[in-house]
Amino acid sequence: MGNSIPFDTKQVFIGGHWRRGNSGRTLALIDPSQGTPLADIARGDATDVDAAVQAAQAALGGAWGRLTATERGRVLMTISAAVLAQADELARLEALDVGKPLKQGRADAVALARYLEFYSGAADKVLGHTIPFANGYTALTLREPHGVTAHIVPWNYPMQIIGRSVGAALAMGNACVLKPAEEACLTALAFARIAHEAGLPAGALNVVPGLGEEAGAALAAHAGVRHISFTGSVAVGALIQAAAAKNAVPVTLELGGKSPQLVFDDAALDAALPVLVNAGIQNAGQTCSAASRILVQRGVFDAVVRRMAERYRGLRGGPALTDPDVGPLISARQRDVVQGYLALVVDSGLTVAAQAPLPAGLPTGGCYVAPTLVAGVPAMHQLAQEEIFGPVQVVIPFDDEAEAIAIANGTAFGLVAGVWTRDGSRALRTARQLHCGQVFINNYGAGGGIEPPFGGVKHSGHGREKGFEALYGFSTLKTIAIKHD
Ligand code: NAD
Repeated sequence: MGNSIPFDTKQVFIGGHWRRGNSGRTLALIDPSQGTPLADIARGDATDVDAAVQAAQAALGGAWGRLTATERGRVLMTISAAVLAQADELARLEALDVGKPLKQGRADAVALARYLEFYSGAADKVLGHTIPFANGYTALTLREPHGVTAHIVPWNYPMQIIGRSVGAALAMGNACVLKPAEEACLTALAFARIAHEAGLPAGALNVVPGLGEEAGAALAAHAGVRHISFTGSVAVGALIQAAAAKNAVPVTLELGGKSPQLVFDDAALDAALPVLVNAGIQNAGQTCSAASRILVQRGVFDAVVRRMAERYRGLRGGPALTDPDVGPLISARQRDVVQGYLALVVDSGLTVAAQAPLPAGLPTGGCYVAPTLVAGVPAMHQLAQEEIFGPVQVVIPFDDEAEAIAIANGTAFGLVAGVWTRDGSRALRTARQLHCGQVFINNYGAGGGIEPPFGGVKHSGHGREKGFEALYGFSTLKTIAIKHD
């Protein structure tokens, strides 16, 4: 299994055609497992973005716009099957580009295929209503596409995020312009190829790689864009919402998190343990919904820390192509950010409960950080408040339910929470009081579910993607009132 890339990476995809970006300039992708150059990608600019929006508009007035909802669904199903058939290759590209362990990359490719399958089936099932109204009238509602939708995605889960946002937008009949992250965009390019070969009409999906502040900002500000789906940091999310406000377009913001898992004294620890750790170190902790705070009731605190520590010591790190438990971080910059947080552990006199040993002989330029478990962290400490986006989990003790809820709700974020207890009433009572978009009881993440809606509150964003709910976000409601005596 080599590191060759079987297509020209330096291109934009606009109106069904591959070509160089107008500026002719490129950006370098780095393989984070090795710290060496991997490929060059196009540095798309405002003129490429404008061409992509125009191509999307043409698609809406052309072959793509003429398809029925059922026909759109069939196209998505064909693409889904093609993605699944190429899941191993997509996983290899993601391993090279993101540093994602092969099994995790394959799971992302399968999730992409599943999103397309789900939205394929849903495309012709989005119904309107007839509304009781005045005599002599019939009033009804229709769900219509926004038109051109912008999709600005990060580097951590490109395939899953493309699946949930582009998949839902296409199902509703929108035409998409996708701006992948400059750090990692090979699977976005590969996906565009797969979709095109599977019969997606020209212009329904356009891809313009480039810098966030250049291609991304141009896309967010483009007057032809009618909806923006953004997944990324809180700071950039605010810029996107400001740009959208100027054109009065709706936005979906999927931002960061500092998600807690609450472990009560009566929790089934054998079931909880692997989930507590995996939800923190998966994708080297670079997951918006990472369970980065583990809140543990005092009666089981020591046992949970001890058993989590044992698991940490057994974690295997290494280059993504060796399919380790934990691969490198995306970049040297991100590695330095996480190292900065680890320095805080020492400076604050906190206890490192365990650190996974990194194997000897790792490439010196690789972006590796040893997964680290920190126990007994005060709830308001910086490590327990800020999104670290690395393989670091903090464990926080609590006395009772009220304190657990107060700590869980006590950050700027509100994305996901997990609750572990055998007491059904407590589970539901707690779930109802947590300020976040999703609560998992005696599990975390529901296996990455495609069907349950997903999104946050507070600084974790607003709007919902995934599941049927996303189809409402990627459409607009028209009311028709007919007077007929
Ligand atoms: P980022 O905000 O820096 O970048 C995300 C995307 O925005 C990239 O494509 C980037 O090029 C683009 N961008 C950057 N500046 C821009 C600008 N001025 N205008 C328009 N676009 C711009 O985020 P990141 O560091 O790549 O990703 C990590 C963040 O994403 C974390 O905070 C993480 O929690 C969050 N995230 C959230 C979810 C979710 O579903 N809630 C999922 C994955 C990641």
